[in-house]
Amino acid sequence: MKIRSVEVINAHRSGRDGISRWNPTWVRIETDEGIDGVGEVGLAYGVGASASVGMVRDLSEAFVLGADPFDSERLWEKLFRGSFWGEGGGPVVTGAISAIDAAIWDIKGKALGMPVWKLLGGRTNESLRTYASQIQFGWSPDGTSFLGAPELYGEAAARAVADGYDCVKVDPIMIDASGQRNPPPRGLFSGEQLGLFRRRMESVRKAVGPEVDIILELHSFTSKSGAEQLSDLFSDLSLFFMEEPTHYANPGAHLAVHDRSGLRFSAGERFYTRWGAEPYISANAIDVIQPDFGLIGGITEGKKVCELAHLHDITVQGHVCGSPVATAIALQVETVIPNFQIHEHHVYALQNVNRELCEEDLQPQGGRFRVSDAPGLGIRLSGLARRDADILTIA
Ligand code: MG
Repeated sequence: MKIRSVEVINAHRSGRDGISRWNPTWVRIETDEGIDGVGEVGLAYGVGASASVGMVRDLSEAFVLGADPFDSERLWEKLFRGSFWGEGGGPVVTGAISAIDAAIWDIKGKALGMPVWKLLGGRTNESLRTYASQIQFGWSPDGTSFLGAPELYGEAAARAVADGYDCVKVDPIMIDASGQRNPPPRGLFSGEQLGLFRRRMESVRKAVGPEVDIILELHSFTSKSGAEQLSDLFSDLSLFFMEEPTHYANPGAHLAVHDRSGLRFSAGERFYTRWGAEPYISANAIDVIQPDFGLIGGITEGKKVCELAHLHDITVQGHVCGSPVATAIALQVETVIPNFQIHEHHVYALQNVNRELCEEDLQPQGGRFRVSDAPGLGIRLSGLARRDADILTIA
């Protein structure tokens, strides 16, 4: 089997359903046997999706066209080393590698008539515990907003619990008191800021009760001193874990806050390949690793990162903030790995702007996901994925 063509689809869906920037980018690979596969770059949010289009084109022209999808390990090595820049990591190059790699796994599964999870080692986890993510944007399929008042945080968390989730994630610092998205500057927080953050987190704990887990998301907005203030401030709220408390490029700062706080920590959405994750893993600076399978280097590399983490008793939550294709990819890996912790379901995943992009609507039931048994990744782009999209074909 040989790869005949690669298509890059860069959708422009910003401003829909309250999502300010939303540009999912997929790679669709076709073979000479008529089997195709899809993967996604992990840059749907933020700025940079269009850069990955050029990177997919360059990698495809150099290495992907004509390759046999079943030589996926060799192809990955070519993308990583043969590109010269792959070894440096970074979201554009490893995002492109990730999307190509996932599409290759989709092809392999379809060609063999098996789901990807079966090719990766089979089902270790039947039912994947799932949390409601980013409730500072509300928790509703009818659009997202920026929550200002503390009581709104509790109300959103209560809606997630009513939907069956027993774990929620909230960032109490990225939205100011007036409801504007305005993350605080780095450094120490004022007493007034700390008061607002505390009232929001108290509202969440009160709304969900003592037995629902709460993940504190900090998005790397905090520096070491601010993160230390917050770990003190929330020390009595039984946090499940605390995410990205320091700048990601400094595992030492992460470890220092970790050791002082007594809390569990997580990071990983800005890790690229094993080499990027290793300093955090070997230092035990995190308790939960959150690789984005659309950025870490795909399924091939992501599974290796999970195995490396397992050596250090670190559990895994795949970072998911993309279209349903990103959800499908994470579910495939999380089903297999023995050190699975929990699956992330973003409030964006509830919105039509995402759900209509694929034929399958991937939503958990009662706060639990079960992976598809369909061949490959079990996900197909819908016709709407091509609407308002830039499409490039490399053949
Ligand atoms: Mg995060």
